[in-house]
Amino acid sequence: MALVPLMVAVGVAWAAVTDNMFPTANTGSSCALGMGHPPCQTDNREVYFYMDSSGEYKLESEDRSTVNAAIDGEYRPTDLAFHYDSSPVFEGSGETDIIYQEGSTGLPDSVAGRTWCNARGGTRYNCDQQYIRIRGNGEYNYARVCHETGHAVGLQHGDYASPQLSKTDSRLGCMVTPSAGHSDLGSNNRDNINATY
Ligand SMILES: [Zn+2]
Repeated sequence: MALVPLMVAVGVAWAAVTDNMFPTANTGSSCALGMGHPPCQTDNREVYFYMDSSGEYKLESEDRSTVNAAIDGEYRPTDLAFHYDSSPVFEGSGETDIIYQEGSTGLPDSVAGRTWCNARGGTRYNCDQQYIRIRGNGEYNYARVCHETGHAVGLQHGDYASPQLSKTDSRLGCMVTPSAGHSDLGSNNRDNINATY
């Protein structure tokens, strides 16, 4: 009688539908600074974030609650550890990872929110500091915070994923576009995050 070899799974099973974590086969391979590029990874699993509390890009208390709710609901259950940084750092090699802003300066009329890197991290894939700017007046909602926060940790739209998916494919969770279409991060994005950090 023949012995049937058993396949033993080691580590975490990869169940993701697509690779949508920067870099993919459909993005460049180096993090680019400024708006309009595929978003880069953050520089490690300890994610420090800040919400502008004065000036042009100040978040109102309702927006702050929305950011906290989306982080609590969607990102704390991942392997990323989010920490509020009440003394944000904007220079040097260890800047606060994500700066949330409310505003529309620099956003095309058709765009509700943008995420961009303004300081490279320690590798070509990652970023030391990402900015998230989302319009006010009802646009600062849970699904959009989930979407832009996904970009700030390296998640891409469907057309930059590998294999590519329709940008509205529901398996992209809150990374669908238009960006307020889905509220939940979903298993594909969670698997990509947990495989990376
Ligand atoms: Zn987007």
